[in-house]
Amino acid sequence: MKLNHLQDTAKTEALYRHSSEQLCDALRKIDLLIQRRTLMFRQAAPEPLRTDLTHVYISHEEVNHLLRPTAAANATHPEIERIAKAIEALQKEIQNKAVQSLQQGIFLALPNLAHIFSLSPFECEILLICLAPELDRKYDKLYAYLQDDITRKKPSVDLALDLLCASEAERWEARSSFSPQAPLFRTGLLQVVEDMQSPSGSSDLARFLKLDPRILNYLLGANQVDAGLTDVSKLILPQANPGSVFIDPALHKSLLELMRLHFLDQSKDRKKLVFHFYGPEGVGKKELAAVLCGLLGIPLLILDAPLLLKDPQEMEDHLRQAFREGLLQQAAIFLEGIDALPQTNETHCFKYLAQAMRQYGWLCFLSGEKAWAQQANLFQDMLFQSHHLPVPAAPLRKAAWIYYLRPLDVENAQVWTEALSGQFRLSPGQIRDAVQFAQCQKALSGSKITCADLFTACRSQSNQKLQDMARKISKRARWEDIVLPESQLAQLKEICTQVKHRSQVFGEWGFDQKLSYGKGLSVLFSGPPGTGKTLAAEVIAHALGLDCYQIDLSGLVSKYIGETEKNLAKVFQEAETSNAILFFDEADALFGKRTEVSDAHDRYANIETSYLLQKMEEYEGIVILATNLRDNMDEAFTRRIRFIVEFPFPEAAQRLAIWKQHFPKEAPVDEDIDYDFLSKKVQVAGGNIKNIVLNAAFLAAENRQPIGMDHLIQGTKREYEKIGKLWDDNRLAPMKEKG
Ligand code: ATP
Repeated sequence: MKLNHLQDTAKTEALYRHSSEQLCDALRKIDLLIQRRTLMFRQAAPEPLRTDLTHVYISHEEVNHLLRPTAAANATHPEIERIAKAIEALQKEIQNKAVQSLQQGIFLALPNLAHIFSLSPFECEILLICLAPELDRKYDKLYAYLQDDITRKKPSVDLALDLLCASEAERWEARSSFSPQAPLFRTGLLQVVEDMQSPSGSSDLARFLKLDPRILNYLLGANQVDAGLTDVSKLILPQANPGSVFIDPALHKSLLELMRLHFLDQSKDRKKLVFHFYGPEGVGKKELAAVLCGLLGIPLLILDAPLLLKDPQEMEDHLRQAFREGLLQQAAIFLEGIDALPQTNETHCFKYLAQAMRQYGWLCFLSGEKAWAQQANLFQDMLFQSHHLPVPAAPLRKAAWIYYLRPLDVENAQVWTEALSGQFRLSPGQIRDAVQFAQCQKALSGSKITCADLFTACRSQSNQKLQDMARKISKRARWEDIVLPESQLAQLKEICTQVKHRSQVFGEWGFDQKLSYGKGLSVLFSGPPGTGKTLAAEVIAHALGLDCYQIDLSGLVSKYIGETEKNLAKVFQEAETSNAILFFDEADALFGKRTEVSDAHDRYANIETSYLLQKMEEYEGIVILATNLRDNMDEAFTRRIRFIVEFPFPEAAQRLAIWKQHFPKEAPVDEDIDYDFLSKKVQVAGGNIKNIVLNAAFLAAENRQPIGMDHLIQGTKREYEKIGKLWDDNRLAPMKEKG
């Protein structure tokens, strides 16, 4: 720190080893100022005039004294001159010692405060006058005495001027230091308090001065964060650990370089630096700011913007308080949750922010989720940088997994991290939370974390809101539960393979850069009702350890223009973090043959379809569209689909397998059930078989019997009636006889 005004008179012999030593000397000086003022005071109003009655009436003698010619009132007393000399000598001593200390790198609170807020030596004296009664109660009495009123224990503007100014002219000149715009008051270091005792209101001179408690602590060497900010802030001293930031390496490098060059410039006109980082929660906005501060070796004061600024009336004051704290801590400011702040003209929130930055800021980070349009204009006179931090691509996600799993010493870290980063589109913050979640879950059992635990933890980090918009499909079904022709099964397995190796092919092998479209994994399942389309989605979800959400398109498609897109955008955004499988049932409702544009609504329907195609294209997970009416699907649309899987009506052989596997192991089943017969004679899809078996099971339970042919025939009859299929009693007659 440079204190040029002190350096001129530097001497080498003595210095302050501690800030408090300087304060002791400063108080000695205050004592001398008081002594001088006491003599002058007595000279101005000798004892006989001072009676207990001065509060009640003003005597003739007192008025005569007050009206004495100025020259007579100011007649110097030899003792006054002696004290004045002592003050001068002490002042020099204090200056010299302070300079020596500062050259040795010893921290002195008062000069430091003066430097931070550009206080003049006169303003420092005012601060000390206000500090004195906070340190020693004798000053209460002395100030009351000098102010000629036992109740006036705090220093007033008048008293400060009396103590520090030798002449009336000096007093008038010094009045500017007490204006609201002067550094002491603008910064809130001192506050003015009205004289509550004065029935007629107090003049400017009579107002009291009060030292801000935060500044009192600062001067006494306790540099804790302002008590008014403790609930909304956190002060951290970051380490320069670039390994904990998972953002685009090119951006990372350029920001580090920008910081380095910016702060190399020590000139006075160096611009203030404001960063605006925006992106989803947990992408590392704070971490990045911490690393940049770590580079400079400075602390970071993190503030919760919505909490700090919740009261619109106090917004300006609280911002000032926060930025002032940043100066006192020599810390950069990090304001998080900036999007939640009101942006209306009335609240002027961002204007206040720019203003606080202009007055007290030097390095500030603003963090939110949305890009800024006009707000950036407010920071035109500063170096303003806005950067988007998206959820990182798979290789960076993998690096984050490795980083957070390292302390756990897991086996197969390579395989796990590959799978986790490929399948979950989590931000680094969510990855950290997922690891912590898994650790907590395992804490009780004491067993080691498995890959499955981490998958569960990942799912817990995402899709919270998706539950409101879609139905989560259970994922109990395995490959052995689905009966399909070989080629269809092979197609389903290929889909899984593509998800597993997505990050390798698109990321590491660079296909991402090569292809401009066709990267989404869109799948169409077409086939009659009950042929296993939903079941297949369930099997895939289980095989990949992903969640699967069934979306009812009829609920999503809105008659209001633009609403459908909004609804779709919400679904995709929510699903994104976990790469959940999105299963759009009865997709033909939206993706049916695109109409020739004949009216405005048709045009919008086509826009909705194109929008969905685009979203499917961008989505990193699987999007499955299911339809019973493949022929209704728009050709141009189906061409954009990566996999089309036809679910055929099951042949007798497949029906046989489906019948067999629909009886749980625990269920009591008659040995004489003729599956062969059932599969040949009951020509229905898997969905109906499931219903028949269930119907039969209830009938059997009611009759307290094992499930037998009779129940199955009865169940079949019910199902036929339900689906409107012709029931012929004779068709199953041989079986009835048998049963
Ligand atoms: P919809 O078009 O009516 O929605 P879907 O094709 O999605 O029907 P699912 O809901 O998957 O059909 O099938 C319902 C139930 O029928 C499944 O849970 C399963 O019990 C049984 N099922 C259907 N097809 C098969 C199959 N191929 N293999 C095994 N079980 C099947």
